[in-house]
Amino acid sequence: MNVPVWNPAIEFMEREALERVQLAGLRKTVAWALKTPFYRHRLAGIGLKHPEDIVDLRDLRSIPYTTKDDLREAYPSGLLAVEPERTVRLHTSSGTTGTPTVIYHSRQDLDCWTELVARCIVAAGATAHDVFQNMTGYGLFTGGLGLHYGAERVGMLVIPASSGNTSRQLQLMKNFRTTVVHATPSYLLHLHASLAEEGISLDQLGLRKAFIGAEPHSEQTRRKIEDLFRIDAYNSYGLSEMNGPGVAFECVHKTGLHLWEDAFILEIIDPRTLQSLPEGETGEIVMTTLQRQATPLLRYRTRDLSHLVGGNCPCGRTHRRLARIKGRSDDMLIVNGVNVFPSQIEDVLMKVPEVGTNYLIQLEKRGSLDRLVVKAEICAKLFTGDPRTLDDLCERIGELLRSAVLVKPTVELHEPGSLPVSEGKAKRVVDLRPAF
Ligand code: ADP
Ligand code: ZN
Repeated sequence: MNVPVWNPAIEFMEREALERVQLAGLRKTVAWALKTPFYRHRLAGIGLKHPEDIVDLRDLRSIPYTTKDDLREAYPSGLLAVEPERTVRLHTSSGTTGTPTVIYHSRQDLDCWTELVARCIVAAGATAHDVFQNMTGYGLFTGGLGLHYGAERVGMLVIPASSGNTSRQLQLMKNFRTTVVHATPSYLLHLHASLAEEGISLDQLGLRKAFIGAEPHSEQTRRKIEDLFRIDAYNSYGLSEMNGPGVAFECVHKTGLHLWEDAFILEIIDPRTLQSLPEGETGEIVMTTLQRQATPLLRYRTRDLSHLVGGNCPCGRTHRRLARIKGRSDDMLIVNGVNVFPSQIEDVLMKVPEVGTNYLIQLEKRGSLDRLVVKAEICAKLFTGDPRTLDDLCERIGELLRSAVLVKPTVELHEPGSLPVSEGKAKRVVDLRPAF
């Protein structure tokens, strides 16, 4: 089997051996957790006082969940499990849904994280011969530094471009013949739309792959990116509470995201009943760290929704796969009583060839009713043609959306470049409804 692989001993490890590694990791994690005031108190509540009390992986089930609010309450150092002098870096989440959370790392933690990212990069078929341009923010956000160190470990030439400054990004790509980029999907679409403006053609670039993540996106969006740039794009999932990028990544087969199970225990639960769900059923991702000393987390509720993919991946890796992230449980919009996920809307829009690269969902109140407004950028030439074409297109998109999400939206068509673009995570939903 000729599969690109970074750490074959771990990545192809038989499940039984992998579970033994997990059990050892869980015991260590409990030992670290017991050093924090937060977990000492929490675990005392279930009579867990020593790591040896964990005899089986199933014992994890008796440990209470850790939530984002727990992390916020423990801010800034209630979850620190090592002496402060052993910490070498901290990161915070982006704060997309509220106060950011903080995660500390020891030197060993950073080393483990880098190793996980290196595995991802190689699984997606990149090598030391690649020139890697990292277009996500460097700083507290984990996307920049996380990918950076992994790429250096693989031996790629790394261009730490960080986010934004599209013109400079394109110049760097051209001048250094960048072969692999890391960016949010929305930013890559924006980058493509800026090529003409910068007078750069695809042939002047040597791009072959993109790692896309940090925000929900549909399969259609991936295809669009792949077709526009004529490259392969791989889904990258991570969150600062689990280090950042390097949690789960697609291999060259793109059949779901392999989650590194020697570093994390994965559970999928029903967010309402909190019961564990079987393979194939969509629920909230819950994760336990197995390698992190400085900020161990037990059964952390990510609020991200996905399901486990069954069967084996042709690459032969034994680490199970997550399906594309559907969104966050708190992303769900309730429009006149109907549950709508922004990802369903994106899926429809990206299937319509006339729709360009950016869109926005706006919720308004009209009397007692909610109004769902979908604003989509479309190709410029449609605006100069017959206005009836625009009306027909509006009608067609409205109908497709209605049958997908069961709510009739008001569709607005906009010229390319007229909707706001974000350099970091895209903000796709604007809710103008009063709070009560
Ligand atoms: P915040 O939670 O404040 O956005 P992070 O920077 O830690 O902070 O972002 C992690 C979150 O980003 C994840 O919990 C998830 O909601 C989202 N995310 C990351 N990667 C992906 C991906 N590939 N697909 C969908 N969502 C993603
Ligand atoms: Zn695979």
